[in-house]
Amino acid sequence: MSTPQNIPVQPVLGIGFGPANLSTAIAVQDRGLLEHCHFIERSPGFQWQNEQMLAGADIQNNPFRDLVMPRDPGHEYTFIRYLYDRGDLTSYLHYNAKFALRNEYNGYLNWVASHFDDHVTYRQEVRDVTVVQDPAGAECFEVRTLDRIWRARHLLLGTGRSPNIPEEFGAGSPRVFHASRYLSSMARLSDERAALRTVAVVGSSQSAIEIVLNLLGRPDVERVVSIQRGIGFRLKDTSPFSRRVFLPEFIDYFHPLPLETKKSLRAQLRAVNYGACDQDVIERLTTVQRDYAQRGSDRFALAPFSRVHAVDADGDGPLTLTLADINNGSTSTLGADAVVLATGYRDFGTDADDEQCHPLLRSVRDRIGVHSDGTPRVHRDYSLDFAGPDDELSIYLNGLCEASHGMGDAGALAVLSTRADDIAESLGARLSARRRAPAGLLRVS
Ligand SMILES: Cc1cc2nc3c(=O)[nH]c(=O)nc-3n(C[C@H](O)[C@H](O)[C@H](O)COP(=O)(O)OP(=O)(O)OC[C@H]3O[C@@H](n4cnc5c(N)ncnc54)[C@H](O)[C@@H]3O)c2cc1C
Repeated sequence: MSTPQNIPVQPVLGIGFGPANLSTAIAVQDRGLLEHCHFIERSPGFQWQNEQMLAGADIQNNPFRDLVMPRDPGHEYTFIRYLYDRGDLTSYLHYNAKFALRNEYNGYLNWVASHFDDHVTYRQEVRDVTVVQDPAGAECFEVRTLDRIWRARHLLLGTGRSPNIPEEFGAGSPRVFHASRYLSSMARLSDERAALRTVAVVGSSQSAIEIVLNLLGRPDVERVVSIQRGIGFRLKDTSPFSRRVFLPEFIDYFHPLPLETKKSLRAQLRAVNYGACDQDVIERLTTVQRDYAQRGSDRFALAPFSRVHAVDADGDGPLTLTLADINNGSTSTLGADAVVLATGYRDFGTDADDEQCHPLLRSVRDRIGVHSDGTPRVHRDYSLDFAGPDDELSIYLNGLCEASHGMGDAGALAVLSTRADDIAESLGARLSARRRAPAGLLRVS
């Protein structure tokens, strides 16, 4: 491990190298600034939602709204360019689907990422971020992974949001796992047991229904129970009017609104992205359900209006879930060999499913300006309100700003390229302000 004295101070360090920081790497490269940036990523190589790379799943964004196209249609890293370069464009156009398959979009993202290999160090899971002084006495960020220390003036935090694991499921059995661990957990369970009698899936989102369908297609799973607080899987609000949340101008409208107004607007627009599913998967599940009904099979069951109160594990035996009906309070129990939590991801906020700030920023919390509810203030350029000398230190939140910038921000590829452009523009201004500093004040990193 480097000693603190000889660690070079990187102008810009990206934490996480998913689609958000990949798109930003391109925008930074387009401005001739990539030499100032390095990215670190915990995975052994580039990956995109590999725990839910399910056969037949498609993407939810218009494939043209890729890493670059909305800001530069002629760019060398468009999805269309990817298809063309691999001789697949005509076949894709012939296929004529509205949405590309998740697997093929993953191929596109991997193809773009491979052009940035020299600027990414993989297998670096960040554990902590602090502010320290460099040997010249200037402040910089110190970023610690298991085996390395990195230093930088500006951070691009692009880790994706934290999985939401409701309290009643926390610190429990390894047979209770979040959807973000789905494929690896199922592979582990398959190694341990020949068959799973019942698998419960908690949640009503797109991920929940995709996982239910995937489980029903597995010969080693005998029965699937979908547990939901509502009546059953609901359709996403796909009205083009509602989906304006994914337009950059919506972010301009949303960002200056007062905190409470933002909260109520997000609640009003929730079904655009959360607790709701696309029509194709709802139709697939109802067809499967009808087929089972004809054959007298109980392979799929729905537990609607249900809330899980407790999960009890007894050795290797089935887990016991205690359920309560949300409307009439009646309780019941369900035995399950595994429980998949399709319970979403956490935004900044004060509700039970939220977190006040990103966990990696815990050691620098006292430097971050906050709103009256304790959540961080994030500027329109996605940088945190961070106490320190102007332009010297900054933390950009890349893909974590649903609470401050609106629904389009956190979970969607649709806004990625324009957000990357906003961040690269702001970062460029900060870097050149530093270069313009009088010679006596310029600290060499
Ligand atoms: C199954 C699934 C499918 C989806 N499909 C779509 C879709 O079709 N269209 C759409 O618009 N949105 C989709 N989404 C929303 C999703 O948020 C975006 O697709 C996209 O993944 C967001 O990119 P990101 O870079 O912000 O986050 P992520 O893709 O989560 O990438 C973050 C990266 O940071 C790394 N990382 C995390 N913590 C650390 C750490 N401590 N140290 C180092 N590295 C770290 C992770 O390994 C990861 O590679 C989907 C989400 C899911 C769960």
